[in-house]
Amino acid sequence: MILVLSPDTRADSSEYRQLMVHLANLPGISTRVHSEVGVEQTLTEVYLIGNTKALPVEDMRSLPCVEQVVRISEEYRVLGRHKDDHRPTYFDYNGVRFGQDTLNVFAGLCAVDTLEHVELMMLALRDNGQVCTRMGAYKPRTSPYSFQGHGKACLPYVFELAGKYGIKVIAMEITHESHVEEIRDALFRTGNATGVMLQIGTRNTQNFELLKIVGRQQDFPVLIKRGFGITLDESLNAAEYLASEGNRKVVFGLRGMKTNMADPHRNFVDFAHVPVVKRLTRMPVCIDPSHSVGLRAPSPEGILDIMHVTAQGVIAGANMVLVDFHPVPNKALVDGPQALLIKELPLFLEDVRIARAAYEQRV
Ligand code: PEP
Repeated sequence: MILVLSPDTRADSSEYRQLMVHLANLPGISTRVHSEVGVEQTLTEVYLIGNTKALPVEDMRSLPCVEQVVRISEEYRVLGRHKDDHRPTYFDYNGVRFGQDTLNVFAGLCAVDTLEHVELMMLALRDNGQVCTRMGAYKPRTSPYSFQGHGKACLPYVFELAGKYGIKVIAMEITHESHVEEIRDALFRTGNATGVMLQIGTRNTQNFELLKIVGRQQDFPVLIKRGFGITLDESLNAAEYLASEGNRKVVFGLRGMKTNMADPHRNFVDFAHVPVVKRLTRMPVCIDPSHSVGLRAPSPEGILDIMHVTAQGVIAGANMVLVDFHPVPNKALVDGPQALLIKELPLFLEDVRIARAAYEQRV
């Protein structure tokens, strides 16, 4: 059972203390309290754990500070949609809203290679009215001999350029807990003008210890990608690991599934699951057409497969698009064959706009 508290409930208020005394006296029930990210004193929800079946909803509703009572099923306790659950399906971060009703495009470099390429990308984003991007600093690679990313060495210029070009949120994959501190430190040193959405890649979807650590970092939102060889349920439970540790600013990413029947694409595109994730949970859903398709193949009409599947995901209600671009794809150190050209950015964004308008007409 979840007690959703009235807005601005403070830990130091007498009403809240009264509530806590009441709950402490319930036999066999323990509590877990969630606070709003970054505002330690403002509490949002209290989870009642134990046998809550006998607790009458009406009595719970009349307790001080309680605005709503939600009975939860076992599945996806924090992030799931439950009966009579009116908790929000969005969050705000660094001035940008991420929700099941919004759409944000994160076009950018799969891997940061040179400062010049980062600057060309950010310039193009600014000129096209974009405030979000993707920039890979820590790259998990199949071969130990492949470029592993510049790591923390590139963070200062990436964040400085982001500030210069008005980029508010950068999606950046991390593979180790130490990366969180490196990012936080570099953001601080460069003035905190931009923000980072920590990305958990498909290879780490079930790295439970990493998920628990990242879940405790409540100052960053997280994009968790579906594991490419596990069930949707297993991946949604992985997202729940983040949330159960306290971080509910979670976006769920579809990036295609590994199968021996995916050819000619790199992975089997799973964007038909966009509405499924939105039905089961309150997370915004991201699609990654680049890692799904994996190559610049044009259809007979001359439209790239990456753009076709992007449109399919957006028409199905996707809330975020993570897509690889590069100023000179054949010089990219990671995934050049799937990168779109910077000159294709306006066309890509227009296509997304058309698909979004179609989605809005349909709902
Ligand atoms: C990426 O987005 O750069 C990436 C490696 O994605 P995935 O984890 O989906 O392979």
